[in-house]
Amino acid sequence: MAARNHKATNTWVARIIPVILIGLVGYSAYVITKVVAIDYLINPSPDLLVQPRSGSAAAILLFYYLLLIPLLVCYARLIQTIITNPGYVPRSEAWYLQRKEEAAGKESFNRSHHGRRRSAPRSTEKPSPLPQSWPAGIQDLESGRSNHSSLTSTNKHASHYSHYRNQSTDLPFWQRDIFVCNPDGRPPFCSTCLTHKPDRTHHCSEVDRCVLKMDHFCPWVGGIVSETSFKFFIQFLVYAALFCIMVLTTIAVFIVERRRINTGFLDVHYYLILGLSALFLLFTLGMAGSSIQLALVNSTTVENLNRRSKVWFLAVLIPRTADGRLPAPPAPRQGATGTEPRFQTITYPRPAEEEQFLIHQAQNPGQTNLSPPSSTTNPATSQPQPRTFAILSTTPGENPFDIGPYDNIRQVMGYSVAEWISPIKQSPCADHRSRVSAFRMNDGLVRRLKEERGLVDVHAEGKRGEGSTARRSRRRGSVNGTGSGSGSAAEDYGSRRKRNRRKTRHHRRRSEGGNAPR
Ligand SMILES: [Zn+2]
Repeated sequence: MAARNHKATNTWVARIIPVILIGLVGYSAYVITKVVAIDYLINPSPDLLVQPRSGSAAAILLFYYLLLIPLLVCYARLIQTIITNPGYVPRSEAWYLQRKEEAAGKESFNRSHHGRRRSAPRSTEKPSPLPQSWPAGIQDLESGRSNHSSLTSTNKHASHYSHYRNQSTDLPFWQRDIFVCNPDGRPPFCSTCLTHKPDRTHHCSEVDRCVLKMDHFCPWVGGIVSETSFKFFIQFLVYAALFCIMVLTTIAVFIVERRRINTGFLDVHYYLILGLSALFLLFTLGMAGSSIQLALVNSTTVENLNRRSKVWFLAVLIPRTADGRLPAPPAPRQGATGTEPRFQTITYPRPAEEEQFLIHQAQNPGQTNLSPPSSTTNPATSQPQPRTFAILSTTPGENPFDIGPYDNIRQVMGYSVAEWISPIKQSPCADHRSRVSAFRMNDGLVRRLKEERGLVDVHAEGKRGEGSTARRSRRRGSVNGTGSGSGSAAEDYGSRRKRNRRKTRHHRRRSEGGNAPR
């Protein structure tokens, strides 16, 4: 109930505040134009004994309206983006089905799923069976596939049910080479939207939607600041701060001047605008500072809460050889409990039942004794090439999206000066057409993680490595568990690893430089 009240208040505040803001800007325009420029500078009262100063009035008005125009344009663009392209992740078919059933008042769904209906949204991410180690993962390839659900499908319906088309969800997450996952290799699952969360997605309770690169719910702009609007938000704050500085200094100068003429000068318009512009200057400067700081480290208000301790799990594609096989796995390492694989793997597409299980779990949170579906299901012949991912983890506090302050801020503001100052083009980070990852990642960091686990990129290395086969074949044939005699892929794998390490050291130095907190 409290949450609902809070939500209703936020929504109400979000609608009313833009109106108040526009009113305040209108009031400042009245004071600067009428009270200061016309009534004092152009037509001063004869008893003030000052000369008319039309030139000063024109300069002040020019400056004022030159700053007001970009401020209003940014504000309009921000609100337009928040309304028409808020960065929502489409809900799943299951969510629409559930709503439809609720509307129809059916009880059959509850009965058939022998559990009670979930009543409140929660954001837990589901525990699930551990993925396979590499060899088991290879076996798993031959099993479950289906043309159902986001875990399994490669096309179409991701955004079919949404008003907002979204490049990030048009492509199934596992068709990219890297995606953010849970320790089990699956992307986080939203138990409210009943769908998988693309990278950097957060469920916003105010709008009850999953939002891509959500920053915060901002009542001042009437909605969610996310990947689509963060740039315009920063621009708005910077222009607002400049505007406040201009109004504050202008009004302060004339208050001082008029108090020199008449020590008892006390015009309410002057002092009200002085107070308001000082207040909003403090507010906008603070917000602009923290927003720019977040952009510089490529984080969001939500991610920033645990940025310094968060461990990111990344599913990193294990490239297959030309004949469609996985390269030989690296040698297992000696752990406390004997030999352990270097990393876990997961193979997509997953069995259709797996997603149904996740949805069922989300809808019936009280049931903890269910076991996940087995991986054996209808073998399909028209399915896409399976993709196997290694599940790697960063060290605590490492941000895989941090590509250095300059590139970080360019991901938000754009690549040219014109993009930085004009609120027209979308942020480059909102473009998710890349098949590598939904958001650009730190190449050096990813390379280092792969290198640490003995995983190298077959394709990239294959392109670079031509002509040096003899040299490579002399090296490290025994790195992987199958030894050097297990075919050319294994040999290449071992030798590539060492060359890659040298390069990784170079990239690591660069990426560490970029990652250091400034
Ligand atoms: Zn959600």
